[in-house]
Amino acid sequence: MGQMWLEALRYSAHVDGDEESPWAMSTDKVGEDLAVATESWKLQLNATEIYVQPHLGRAPLENLTIIHDPGCFTARKSRQSVKKEMAEHLKNGSAAKGKNVGLEKRPTPRSLKLSLAPHRLDLSFSCTRRLWLGDVRGWSTEPMLLGQIDDIDVDGADATSGGAVAGGMAGSVAVSTGVVGLPDAATLGSLFHRLVEVGIANPADDGELMGLDQLWSHSQSSRLLEKDVIEQVLDELLPADADRAVTGQRLAVLAQIQEDGRLGKMCGGDDFDGQKVVGLRTELPFHLTVGVGADGRRITRWAVAGEVELADIDEIQVSFDGRIDLALAYDGDEGPTLQVVDLKTEGCGQPFDEDDPAKGHELQHPVAEPFSTMVQSHLEQELLDKHRLQLALYTIVLERSQFSLPEKERRKVLPPAIQASASGRMVVMSEAELTQAKLDFGELLEQMVDMKLNPHDEPERLPKEQGEICRTCPYYYSGIRLCGPQGEPLGIVSRS
Ligand code: SF4
Repeated sequence: MGQMWLEALRYSAHVDGDEESPWAMSTDKVGEDLAVATESWKLQLNATEIYVQPHLGRAPLENLTIIHDPGCFTARKSRQSVKKEMAEHLKNGSAAKGKNVGLEKRPTPRSLKLSLAPHRLDLSFSCTRRLWLGDVRGWSTEPMLLGQIDDIDVDGADATSGGAVAGGMAGSVAVSTGVVGLPDAATLGSLFHRLVEVGIANPADDGELMGLDQLWSHSQSSRLLEKDVIEQVLDELLPADADRAVTGQRLAVLAQIQEDGRLGKMCGGDDFDGQKVVGLRTELPFHLTVGVGADGRRITRWAVAGEVELADIDEIQVSFDGRIDLALAYDGDEGPTLQVVDLKTEGCGQPFDEDDPAKGHELQHPVAEPFSTMVQSHLEQELLDKHRLQLALYTIVLERSQFSLPEKERRKVLPPAIQASASGRMVVMSEAELTQAKLDFGELLEQMVDMKLNPHDEPERLPKEQGEICRTCPYYYSGIRLCGPQGEPLGIVSRS
């Protein structure tokens, strides 16, 4: 708007043949056609001269007052006319020429508070542009599917991590599992998470556990295979268009696989590698606030003349709310410990073979040492890698809870694990992977803060070599492609 206004004044003085027009560009020549203005915002205006002679062509206006700041509109105390007051103001302005009339006091520092859903951590780290488009630009993460819901693979973090898809950062598309009667992958994941929440065994003895409250030690025998528990879960969450019998059967198969694996046996009271489960929590709620360094960071606003500083920042906090699928308390060779276990239901829908794991999803394929917590296939490693920042966050949550206790009451927090529900395998992150994940978590928070403070710094599209990441991004698989790897055309996508 401001630029259009300046253009109008320039044009008005020009058609009037005004050689002295303060609104003219250096290249303007009276009598010649005006070129399109490119840098009118660089005009330097003398408010005093313009007040006396505004150069408005034939407009019947003798004076023009330039107000440069809302602070100029102070409450009127004097009873002078506006004209007299303006003359006095201009006189004061001239007298102050050369003096420092800037603000003596900097504006009061502000704090910056941000939040991020835990399930978006890894997606955001793999492409900060995705975070920028959604959180800074405000683009909806709902893909525009123009009647072509097809074989898009969105079997990602959101779809199978047990529900937390609030915020909708992708992964909420219902994808056919290919098995008649089964719900989509995300819903099947939610159903199984709920079954584990209600039915998992807790071998605690109802006594007190060091560093933990009573909720950890409510003993329970496994109810995972009980028909009425499965029915209860189906009553709660089964969509109307899914087949109850088919879905119930799949839940029972997954429950049996868990019972036969390391996690099921440990929750049933067995020891493994000198560790014994002594208590647990399912769906452990948390609120975590992480501070980010505020030094040198400030809030700015874009103005025609560039970035204008508005305030320093004295505190930056990023908060996370969520629930940890499962947290185990152990007693054993390493003393009292804790461990996060995140249930992953990738591969539990389609392709999945209930009778012959070797013919089903690759995650089902038998491995040499099923009770070992070491990675034994590239898909297990992929599962860990895909969720490593989220796992690091959950681990930090447990560590913080322990740091708040006196040192001798603390439990050591072990590297986190995923429970691959398709195989019943519990796979643990290495110490080195956890350390790297924590570093990357911190780096992502720094980037997120910078993004909020410098919203015009647009992150690049991913290079072609990382196009696989784009395949699960709603800005890519949308019917109207809004983003994609560098070099790929955007716009309406034709699928042949
Ligand atoms: S399409 Fe690719 S580059 Fe664009 S936001 Fe999504 S993941 Fe990032």
